[in-house]
Amino acid sequence: MSAIECPVCQGKERTESIIVECDRRAKITGIIQCLACGHEFPITMRNGHIRKLDTALPILQSDKLASDVSPDIREDVKEAERCHYHQCYKACVTMCRRALQLSLIDKGIEDKPLGKMLEDAHKVKKLLTDDTYTQAKSIKHFGDIGAHRQEAIEPEVARLVIYTTVLMLNESSK
Ligand SMILES: [Zn+2]
Repeated sequence: MSAIECPVCQGKERTESIIVECDRRAKITGIIQCLACGHEFPITMRNGHIRKLDTALPILQSDKLASDVSPDIREDVKEAERCHYHQCYKACVTMCRRALQLSLIDKGIEDKPLGKMLEDAHKVKKLLTDDTYTQAKSIKHFGDIGAHRQEAIEPEVARLVIYTTVLMLNESSK
């Protein structure tokens, strides 16, 4: 049994430690979410002992999302980060593509193939600058590979796609 402190809110929002337990013949690899503050951090345990405990997910870009990015889209980016932690890189970039598409629908772009939506947003409605349009096209490019193609997505690429998604969502929310 291990008593773990939430790195963000222990002592402020929570007074008790988080208790995690597994027996001699079990291993836990996963994400702890503190329900007092919502913070997520990864843990690996074996035989009841902590092997690895980080204070935050390896990629924590979703915390940098602008406050006016909608909760649904924020959740998609967080899911992409969880996918990355679990080494599901195709799923990761696919979630980023989803966040991009939903953000365009939020802005009033008609739901149709994403390439067309991006053109509408850039050329017709002027919602995307040249820079954010380029970023969005690259998110689509890798998201399409994740969703449709027989190609691998490298961890570094998935990391970069999350980074670009947060940048693009913040820039286009101004
Ligand atoms: Zn907490």
